[in-house]
Amino acid sequence: MKVRTVLTAINGTTAVGLAVAVLTGARVRRGRDGILVAEGYRRRFPPAMCFTVGSVVITRRSAEWLLDERRAELLAHEARHAGQYAVLGPLFWPAYWMACGLSWALAGSYGSHNPFERDAGLERGGYPRLPLRWSSATGSRSRGGENP
Ligand SMILES: [Zn+2]
Repeated sequence: MKVRTVLTAINGTTAVGLAVAVLTGARVRRGRDGILVAEGYRRRFPPAMCFTVGSVVITRRSAEWLLDERRAELLAHEARHAGQYAVLGPLFWPAYWMACGLSWALAGSYGSHNPFERDAGLERGGYPRLPLRWSSATGSRSRGGENP
């Protein structure tokens, strides 16, 4: 049994993931390496194909889709988040959301400068690797304007 599986069970984050799955009508299936897959998630938030809570990877697609060999990199990305939950426990949530805000402020994407997503692998998680907002600007920072 993987250490992260034990730690996410002890720190309660996997229980929260299972609660999210049950309360949203997703079906929990056994994955690989102690990862559980909750399939058929239908809520609008978060706007991602998959997200991880404890050792539970919640996906809009089927468990077969996520466990397919062609999605091995994506599953590895999500499993890395399970490892982050193992270390941080419930502190993952405020830390992750602060990291999203920081990345959004820096680059206009909640993933590309988010240390949690960088650690899990941007490319295998499907995140763009964006430059900092001001790296192409000429020194003046506009407030409130759109920055395409
Ligand atoms: Zn991720």
